[in-house]
Amino acid sequence: MTTQIADNIRTIRNRMAAAAARAGRDPAGIRLMAVSKTVEPERIRQAIDAGIGLLGENYVQEAREKIPAVGQAVQWHMIGHLQTNKVKYVVTLFDWIHSVDRLELAQELSRRAGQHGRVLNVLIEINVSGEASKNGARPADVLELARQVAALPNLSVRGLMTMPPYSDDPENSRPYFVALRRLRDELAAAALPGVAMAELSMGMTDDFEVAIEEGATIIRVGRAIFGERRST
Ligand SMILES: *Cc1c(COP(=O)(O)O)cnc(C)c1O
Repeated sequence: MTTQIADNIRTIRNRMAAAAARAGRDPAGIRLMAVSKTVEPERIRQAIDAGIGLLGENYVQEAREKIPAVGQAVQWHMIGHLQTNKVKYVVTLFDWIHSVDRLELAQELSRRAGQHGRVLNVLIEINVSGEASKNGARPADVLELARQVAALPNLSVRGLMTMPPYSDDPENSRPYFVALRRLRDELAAAALPGVAMAELSMGMTDDFEVAIEEGATIIRVGRAIFGERRST
C-alpha cells in the first residue's frame, strides 16, 4: 500500500535530484529531513516506512512525548529555539541540535551531554537577515562563537543553519542562502580546531530547491511531506 506521505516523499526526492543536477551537485550529499512538529506518531511512521531516516522537531515538550513513541532507530534533530532550562531533556532525545545561537546554551548542552556520556552534533544558527524577531547569532559573532563552542568537550560543531524571512517567492530566500554558504566558507577557511564546517541546514517546503542550488546539505521539509499543519 502506498500512502499520500510516501507519494509526497517520492515527489520531493525527484525535485531534489533535479535541483542537484541544475547545480552540478551529487544528490547523495543532500539529506532530506522530515519536520514532524504537530504530526502524530502514526503518520511519522508512514514517513519512516517511506525511507525517511532523519526527523526534526521544534518543541521540547512535544518531542518528549513523541520521540519515545516513535523510537530512536531514526536520527532526531532539534531545530526549534531552545531555552537553557530545557536542555536537560534534549540531550538524551536528540543526536543533533540545529539551533545553537549563544555560548550559554552551548555550555549547558555540553555539560548535560557529558553527564550522559554523549557528544552532540551541533549547528550554529545564524540570523542572516538581522530581523529582530529571528533567533540566531549575528554573522559578525559567529567566528568567535564557533571557536568557543568547539572548545566544549561534549559538542561537535558540524556547520551552520538559517531560516530566511518568510516570503511567498522562493527567489527571495536565495541571497540569505548565498550569505550562509559564504559564511560557512569563511569559517572553513579559518580552520578552527575541532570545527567541521561541512553542513548547511537550509531550505524548507517553499524554497528547498533554491537552497539546494546554493549548497544545502540538509533540507528541512514539513508541509510538503505531511500536509498543512493545524494551526496552533
Ligand atoms: C517548521 C519548520 C520547518 C519546516 O517548514 P515547512 O514550511 O513546513 O517545510 C523547517 N525548519 C524550521 C526551523 C521549522 O520551524
